[in-house]
Amino acid sequence: MEDALLKLKNEAAGDLAAIASAGDLEPFRIKYFGRKSPFTRLMRQLGDAPAADRPRLGKLANELKKELQRQFEEKKASLSRQGMAEGADIDLTLPGRTTPQGKLHPVTQIMEEICGIFEGLGFTVAEGPDIETDFYNFEALNIPAHHPARDMHDTFYVDDSILLRTHTSPMQARVMETKEPPLRVIAPGKVYRCDSDITHTPMFHQVEGFLVDSDVSFADLKGVLSVFIAKMFDESTPIRFRPSFFPFTEPSAEVDIGCVMCNSKGCRVCKQTGWLEILGAGMIDPEVFKKVDYDPEVYSGFAFGLGVERIAMLKYGINDIRLYYENDLRFLRQF
Ligand SMILES: [Zn+2]
Repeated sequence: MEDALLKLKNEAAGDLAAIASAGDLEPFRIKYFGRKSPFTRLMRQLGDAPAADRPRLGKLANELKKELQRQFEEKKASLSRQGMAEGADIDLTLPGRTTPQGKLHPVTQIMEEICGIFEGLGFTVAEGPDIETDFYNFEALNIPAHHPARDMHDTFYVDDSILLRTHTSPMQARVMETKEPPLRVIAPGKVYRCDSDITHTPMFHQVEGFLVDSDVSFADLKGVLSVFIAKMFDESTPIRFRPSFFPFTEPSAEVDIGCVMCNSKGCRVCKQTGWLEILGAGMIDPEVFKKVDYDPEVYSGFAFGLGVERIAMLKYGINDIRLYYENDLRFLRQF
């Protein structure tokens, strides 16, 4: 048995050395590593060897086979290098392999579109930290500890005073603290809430916008948002402002557009109302101005916040927000 193995090894080494072209590699592989190879045959005969010798012989056979495989791979690599050097077996007329071209994620595309529209209206972009203090996320926005509005936020806390921002509104106080009016600012970015279903993900994107100056009225807010909606969707998109409540704006409104899925006829997406809520807005509460030492008697302003995924869902007709974050290229390549 041992002799048979050694003989096989020498025979294989001789065959391997005789291989001169890549075309001879495959027959060699089938002969020595295929199902009917002499190795397989010898391994079967192992059962007939004396029990005491079996482990040693089995090990020897395995080692020989491994060594032969290593030599085979080496030969293959060397022939391939040789082939490339000589230019043999390379068809220069074959088309090249193209590298797939990357594209921006649909959420990024929509975010850039939103920012572009507001930049066209004279707004500048400001970005702030994702990890925020309780002060900027809540206190400065007139949401003191124990305010019931905190319940709506499902906050991820890092510790008692540090958290992942639940909205991009902290940028209001951060910008107003360092700059004097007039201000026209949009703040895009990631926000975090402990919530997950077909319309919520624990991380999503918002764009906050605010304008502060003397004599700013609700009519200015309406004008700016109407222009935005006309550009983002369509000139003829119906808009309505609905009274609402936010601690940091007074009065506050939620803004609806005519359902883009059913042309306001009523469908499952708009719950048969013909309307879809797309953003929240209002006049900045004087309490917010006081926190940053602006005189509410001199200055007034408006603020609005919108969810980027929501706008992207309406614009592209997507019904499950989680699709954005599953990294399925078949989905992402459509945009
Ligand atoms: Zn509808």
